Amino acid sequence: MTKENIGLKWEYAPSPEATDHAKINKQYELFINGKFTKPNSKKCYNTINPATEEVIAKIADANEKDVDLAVTSAKTAYDKYWKKLSGAERAKYIFRIARVIQERSRELAVIESLNGGKAIRESRDFDIPTAANHFFYYAGWADKLEYAFPNKKVQSLGVAAQIIPWNFPLLMAAWKIAPALATGNTVVLKPAESTPLTALKLAEIIQDCDLPPGVVNIITGFGATGAAMVNHPMVSKVAFTGSTDVGKLIQKSIAGTTKKLTLELGGKAANIVFDDAPINQAVEGIVNGIFFNQGHVCCAGSRLFVQENIAEEVISKLKARMQTLLVGNPLDKNTDIGAINSKEQLDKINNYLKIGVNEGLEIYQSDNCSLPKKGFFCKPTLFIGAAQSNRVVQEEIFGPVLTIQTFRTIEEVIEKANNIPYGLSAGVWTDKGSKIFNLTSKMRAGVVWANTYNKFDPTSPFGGYKESGFGREGGLHGLAPYVNLI
Ligand code: ADP
Repeated sequence: MTKENIGLKWEYAPSPEATDHAKINKQYELFINGKFTKPNSKKCYNTINPATEEVIAKIADANEKDVDLAVTSAKTAYDKYWKKLSGAERAKYIFRIARVIQERSRELAVIESLNGGKAIRESRDFDIPTAANHFFYYAGWADKLEYAFPNKKVQSLGVAAQIIPWNFPLLMAAWKIAPALATGNTVVLKPAESTPLTALKLAEIIQDCDLPPGVVNIITGFGATGAAMVNHPMVSKVAFTGSTDVGKLIQKSIAGTTKKLTLELGGKAANIVFDDAPINQAVEGIVNGIFFNQGHVCCAGSRLFVQENIAEEVISKLKARMQTLLVGNPLDKNTDIGAINSKEQLDKINNYLKIGVNEGLEIYQSDNCSLPKKGFFCKPTLFIGAAQSNRVVQEEIFGPVLTIQTFRTIEEVIEKANNIPYGLSAGVWTDKGSKIFNLTSKMRAGVVWANTYNKFDPTSPFGGYKESGFGREGGLHGLAPYVNLI
């Protein structure tokens, strides 16, 4: 790209998605036993729009008694209906959920962006369709479990307690609920405290789909609600996606019980660009890997490794591309980077920006990008000349912040890329298939993308190594954590 191109940014007229078709109640109760129910705790909290800081709705804060009601209703539904139903009958319900998500996708996308801050382009084109696809995919497995596990008798587990984070609220709910229902389990799901709305919309969809009461219960609250779910004696399976710290707490608290556990935790993915890579595509992949979705992705390509002889070219093209990124109103169809999910998260990211500068790294932010006055926003940022020992390289920032390191040989980059407590994902950009296979076999990462980044499909398993957790979600592998095989 020539110098003249740098700084080129199209001026688009505002193009916000309408919100009048999105029906959001002023207040939400807990979805227990097929009905919205007042919380025993009598407590609620406000959920906000992180782009404007305005309150959207009041949300119930479930206490231990509420959790007990939800788990008991899931257990009764399991014993009374769900475990007796044939796979083909379960599949009908799951297909129904998938179809209604598709029908209401526009409304769900708007609510996801309103409550989570992510750009509408992401929620409309990725989150909601992928959530529907997940239900479609697992509906297909429900009556074919004996083919998934040949020569084995497949038994469901009972009640699954499922706890999810704020970065992909509806999609994570789909990742958790669809395989659990397909394998004959019932569910109590808790969305993250800051993004409960699409999960509560899903509760309405489940009601519309006439699922037997109690098969899916959706309760809201904070960490204490999650802890009460994990520790409930009637729970047979815990599925958690969130921070490594909470994952470790959960693992400790169920040690010595027969509860099954899957954990999908943090990440700090290496995105590796060799000198024979298609550079322009790689730059687009780097931007997609870390900046889109505000960097709120556990598998974000947050550590860039560039081969030394092309570093200057890649960094200059990356800077030029960053000048064109639009940060702002998540509901605007032209927005590339929406709002950071919460003030707390923005403070955490800003603190890491200070740490990087204090570590002596060169910082680069687009000067062509102004942030809205209200709401929680962060400019996409590069830390150039980073080293393995830097905290911004070692720790998960969960924001649009990319560290850049250079390397000379494949052995060196594998060593550096693996030298981290996490192992969720990685990316490699090269023209040579042999290099891809060499690297993928040596990377300690659950998913390695080659010449692309952040591609998801319900048929492929996803999950981590080391402190990124264990167990797989998606694909045939995603059925295994929800069954006993005899
Ligand atoms: P993040 O940093 O992504 O917000 P957290 O691990 O804090 O990740 O939160 C992920 C989910 O775990 C949220 O739904 C949160 O309410 C829940 N949670 C937090 N603390 C606990 C806990 N001690 N036990 C169970 N769930 C928890």
